[in-house]
Amino acid sequence: MDILIKNGRIIDPANNIDEIADILIQEGRVSKIACNLSPDAGVETIDATGQLVVPGFIDMHTHLREPGYEYKETIKTGTMAAAAGGFTTICCMPNTKPVNDSQSVTKFIINKAMTEGLVNVLPVGAITKGCEGLEITEMAELKEAGCVAVSDDGKPVMSSLVMRRALEYAKMFQLPVISHSEDISLTEDGVMNEGSVSTELGLRGIPDASEDVMVARDILLAELTGSHVHIAHISTSGSVDIVRQAKQRGINVTAETCPHYMALTDEAVRGYNTNAKMKPPLRRKKDVNAVIAGLKDGTIDVIATDHAPHSQEEKEREFDYAPFGIIGLETAFAIVFQLVEQGELSLRDLIVMMSVRPAQILGVEKGSLGIGAVADVTIINPNTTWVVEAENIKSKSRNTPFYGQKLKGKVNTTIVAGSIVYRG
Ligand SMILES: [Zn+2]
Repeated sequence: MDILIKNGRIIDPANNIDEIADILIQEGRVSKIACNLSPDAGVETIDATGQLVVPGFIDMHTHLREPGYEYKETIKTGTMAAAAGGFTTICCMPNTKPVNDSQSVTKFIINKAMTEGLVNVLPVGAITKGCEGLEITEMAELKEAGCVAVSDDGKPVMSSLVMRRALEYAKMFQLPVISHSEDISLTEDGVMNEGSVSTELGLRGIPDASEDVMVARDILLAELTGSHVHIAHISTSGSVDIVRQAKQRGINVTAETCPHYMALTDEAVRGYNTNAKMKPPLRRKKDVNAVIAGLKDGTIDVIATDHAPHSQEEKEREFDYAPFGIIGLETAFAIVFQLVEQGELSLRDLIVMMSVRPAQILGVEKGSLGIGAVADVTIINPNTTWVVEAENIKSKSRNTPFYGQKLKGKVNTTIVAGSIVYRG
């Protein structure tokens, strides 16, 4: 069905548009943007007065858990959560069971997403077989099957030699290498940020250096190979500085951070709250400030969620034994929007980092509302306030540190290729 969205504030940074107008979607594509369009018979009209109409968000970093861990999330429930969060495209990380290190797994994910998924799913293949860090995957085959990047996310590639070869190999197929930057010899058995809070709580800490060392290494290897490395989920002021300097030196590096690293500190762990346990861990105020500064000056290119669902049973374990990770698709926009409300970030920048830049990095024709573009569109009411509540979560898991938080700005309609996949 064709759709006419009336009177919304259309923000389309890719085409330098920020104006109140109507947008007509025909046969799944953007066909017209103008004022005072009147609907033909049979066209669904959406009144978007006072609302934002933006290119659908693209999450470069989602864990869908299928195949293998369907009790945490499935492609169906994960894409439902994505749609509710305004994401029209998500990249799913390969640490499933089996790991997405072969065409058969990639094809399984793509087929399942086509039949059961609500949004576009772009698989990320593994860098090494089984994400074991030893033997590089057949990246040409992964790309041919539909992978848009490679990563061993969840595990770092500890061998510098393997990482070097992976970067060289991935470059031949124009695949970005997404680095989960963590030196596990420094992490040891750490469960939260190393600092005064971990000392007070008597929990083993993870130092900043565990992240910074690997960010530096992978940037140096990107320089050596001329390959593109994308640093996942930046959390420390140190890595923001390293990426900033690397960009100034012209190294082919991009970086992402996640909403929780701009909104929370390790204080959230107090009370042994396992919903604040993640990797990298929540850091200190100075790191939050550095992450925000990195977003403002373009050091950090992308806001991704690192949506990492875990069952309630798993998260209810003792802090030391609970798994790392939180869900994030449904709260991402509203958390980042707080920075817009505080005047730290412009709406345009938010959309660039949640839609335009991910599309560019992944090499997909998305993130634009240009005439003829596939109509992946998100409509947001910036004035709606809402409270994060378990019963409203679409993800199969409930592990969020934002429970009970009052947020402003809510996605109310998500459109993928001209079909409405979510209505709030
Ligand atoms: Zn990771």
